[in-house]
Amino acid sequence: MLKCKEVVKVVSADQRISLMQKIEIKLHLIMCRHCRRYQQQLNLLKNGFVRLLKLKYNSADPQKIDQIEKKVLDKVNKRSNQ
Ligand SMILES: [Zn+2]
Repeated sequence: MLKCKEVVKVVSADQRISLMQKIEIKLHLIMCRHCRRYQQQLNLLKNGFVRLLKLKYNSADPQKIDQIEKKVLDKVNKRSNQ
């Protein structure tokens, strides 16, 4: 089984991985709640930033951008305090 360090490295790098690696990571995530939480937080951040970028591209009002930014940070903070 993969070690947490290896999973974190692969998940964070967003690199192309083989099918076998994908399966190994999935299995690890099923069994390891620490890595699962880490991946969830990472996704949360990624989604938040994607939304921010989209908003900025659509030149929405800065207030809305601040609201979303705050929401994402709140969620991340809440999860890391659990
Ligand atoms: Zn792990």
